[in-house]
Amino acid sequence: MSEHETRLEILRFGKMLHDHHLIAATDGNISIRLNEVSVLATPTCISKGMMTTEDLLVVDMHGRKISGFRDVTSEIAMHLTIYRMRPDIHAVVHAHPPTATGFAACGLPLDQALISEVLLSLGSVPLARYATPGTSELSDALVPYIPDHDAVLMANHGVVTYGVDLMQAYMNMETVEHFAKIALVVKQLGCERPLAAEQVTKLQEMRQRIQTYKSELRTRA
Ligand SMILES: [Zn+2]
Repeated sequence: MSEHETRLEILRFGKMLHDHHLIAATDGNISIRLNEVSVLATPTCISKGMMTTEDLLVVDMHGRKISGFRDVTSEIAMHLTIYRMRPDIHAVVHAHPPTATGFAACGLPLDQALISEVLLSLGSVPLARYATPGTSELSDALVPYIPDHDAVLMANHGVVTYGVDLMQAYMNMETVEHFAKIALVVKQLGCERPLAAEQVTKLQEMRQRIQTYKSELRTRA
């Protein structure tokens, strides 16, 4: 994919985040790893649903702007921490989806074994402790969860998801919000029936096989 196509891809998924109400106003940010030394990212203070290709920035792995007219988001450090810790990750999405962020504001992780498909796709979604946006503490709070999860709730803030490409990172965000809506209905009905330990183990084994199959497919491609 050329850099221009990569820019168009960020615009496409920025609009989807906005259209699906996963962000409001100028919330959220998206990035794609371009190579070992640079990342293409959305800037601060702009609606991610109404960007042009010229609005995007290229930053180095320390968050310093290499090119672009707008300003770097204060949340770029979170993206770079994920890229440093996970060489398999090529795209990061940060958003404030209302239901999942509601769980994060109540101090509730989305880690109950309620839905088999969520266990297969994401495993569980942990909750990172609160940290002031734009500070290094925000990245520090995520560090314990980055190696083993592809989606993390950020207490009193929002959600970060990531993937091998932007499609996967975006779909992980959709899955988190959809699962949060289901978990909310389960709480409202008040009669939750989580899967049993042996059922969870079977799903974890299946997830491992799916992950291995996907990485073999990527190696072949
Ligand atoms: Zn945020």
